Amino acid sequence: EAFPLDEVDGNYVRTVKRCVFSESPPTPLKSPLKLAAVSKEVLESILDLDVPISLFEDFVLYFSGGKLFPGSVPLSHRYGGHQFGYWAGQLGDGRAHLLGEYTNRKGDVWELQLKGSGKTPYSRSGDGRAVVRSSVREFLCSEAMHHLGVPTSRAASLIVSEEPVWRDPFYNGSVQKERGAVVLRLARSWFRIGSLEILTRSGELDLLRKVLDFVIEEHFTSIKTNDPDKYVTWFSTVVNETAHLIAQWMSVGFAHGVGNTDNFSLLSITIDYGPFGFMEAYNPSFVPNTSDDEGRYSIGAQANVGLFNLEKLLEALYPVLNSDQQSWAKHILKGYPQIYQRRFQELFKAKLGLEGEEEDDDDGYLIAFLLKMMEDASADFTMTFRQLSEVSALQLHSRSISKTMWALQELSMHEYFPEWVNMYLPRLQRAQRSDEARQHRMRGVNPRYVLRNWMAESAIQKAENDDFSEVRLLQEVLARPYTEQHRAEERDYASPPPHWARGLKVSCSS
Ligand code: AMP
Ligand code: MG
Ligand code: MG
Repeated sequence: EAFPLDEVDGNYVRTVKRCVFSESPPTPLKSPLKLAAVSKEVLESILDLDVPISLFEDFVLYFSGGKLFPGSVPLSHRYGGHQFGYWAGQLGDGRAHLLGEYTNRKGDVWELQLKGSGKTPYSRSGDGRAVVRSSVREFLCSEAMHHLGVPTSRAASLIVSEEPVWRDPFYNGSVQKERGAVVLRLARSWFRIGSLEILTRSGELDLLRKVLDFVIEEHFTSIKTNDPDKYVTWFSTVVNETAHLIAQWMSVGFAHGVGNTDNFSLLSITIDYGPFGFMEAYNPSFVPNTSDDEGRYSIGAQANVGLFNLEKLLEALYPVLNSDQQSWAKHILKGYPQIYQRRFQELFKAKLGLEGEEEDDDDGYLIAFLLKMMEDASADFTMTFRQLSEVSALQLHSRSISKTMWALQELSMHEYFPEWVNMYLPRLQRAQRSDEARQHRMRGVNPRYVLRNWMAESAIQKAENDDFSEVRLLQEVLARPYTEQHRAEERDYASPPPHWARGLKVSCSS
C-alpha cells in the first residue's frame, strides 16, 4: 500500500490501510554496543540458548537490530487504540519490530520483538528509539512480574549504545541528550485490543475476521474453529482473563500507569511497561504517571479501566456478531465485576492465609477492614502483608510487634487494630492448622521485594554512568521475591523507602 501523509497538528501521520503488519527493517543501534543485562532464565528456558552468550558472538548484533536471522522478515504491527478514554486513531508499533516466532524444544511458540529499534511506518513524529532508563524499567519489571506469578511479556536482553537520543525526561521544556537502548522482549502474542479496533474502525472486516481466527486458532485452542459462536466464546474468555489479570495486579500493588486499549493484550498478559509503579503507602488513588493529572489510571481505577477496555473490545467485535450474539456478549460483560470481585477476594484471602469456605461476606469484611486501616495509616502495601506472614499469632495477640516489623508496627497503632486482630485470629484458628504452616503459606504469596520506584531509580542512575551492576543485582533479587535474601536486606530493599523517594513519579517520556 502507498502511505499517504496526513497532517495532524503539525505532525505527519502515515495512514496505513488494509494491513495488519508492515514490513519494516530495524535501524541498527550504533556501535559501540554493550550487552548490559540478560535474563538467563529466558535465554535458557524459552530460547533454548544454553551456550554461554560469550560464545554467541553475534548476540548483540542480532538483538540490537544489526543483523537478521536467515528468513526473518521484520514486521511492525498496525494497531489503533483509545488513549485516556478517547479514540486516538492509528498508533501501531512506532519503535518495535517483530523479528519472528520461535518454537522452542518444549514446542512453545514465542514472538520475538525488539523495542527501540528504529523508525517504522507507525512512528509518526517519534524517533523510533528508546532511552536507557525506560528500557531498564521494562527489562526489570517484566521479569519481576513473571517471578511474582503475574502473566506478562518477558525480557531477554538489554543492549545499550552510545547513540544519542533526545528527550525531555521531566516534561519541563528542557531536552537532554540520553543514550539509546534496545530490549529483546517476548510474548506468546503481541496482539492488543487496539489491533482489532483499528480494523473495525476502518471497515476492514475481512482482516478483522482473519486476525480473530488466527488468535483463536493459535492461542485459544479449546475453542473450536467451526463453532458458529466462537467469537462470543472467545470474548467471554478474554473478559474472564482480563478480570483475573487486574485482580493479580492489585494483589501485588501494581499500577500499570497507561491502561489504554493499545496497551491491553488480547491474551490478557501485562504488556507495554511505561510509567508503571508499585504502590508503597496504601492508597487507592495512587497514580504512578506524572502526566495522568486526572488519575484516570490510578491503581484503584484499574478494575474499571479493564471494563472500559473490554467494552471497546466488544465494540470492535460487533460487526462480526449477529444480534443474538451481541446481546449475549453484552450479558457476559455484565458479569465482569463479579468475576473480578471473586478473584480479588480469593487472592486477598490467600494473602491473609485464610483457608476454606467461610461465610464469604465475613472474609470480605476482614479484607476491607484491613485495607481501610492501611489507607488511614498510609501503611506500606507490600511489607504490611509480608510482615503479617512473618509475625506469629502469639505476637499479634499480645501486640508485641518488634521494630523490625516496621510496617506492621505502625499499623498496629491504629485504633481499630485490636478489633481487627480479634476477628482475624479466631478466623485463622477455625482452620485448625499450625501457625507455622500459616506463615509458610503466606510467605509464598506475599513478596518481600517488589520493584519500588526508588530501587529502579537508583539502579538507573548507575546505569546512566555505564554501571549496570545494580540492574543485575535487582534482577537477581526480584527473581526470588518471596525469599529473604542477604544482599537485598543489605541494600534496604525491605526497609522503609528512603526520604528522597517520597512521591517519586515517572513521566511517560521514554
Ligand atoms: P505508549 O504510550 O508507549 O503505549 O505508545 C503509544 C504509541 O506511541 C505507540 O504507537 C508507540 O509505538 C508510539 N511511540 C512511543 N514512543 C515512540 C518513539 N520514540 N518513536 C516512535 N513511536 C513512539
Ligand atoms: Mg503467534
Ligand atoms: Mg504501548
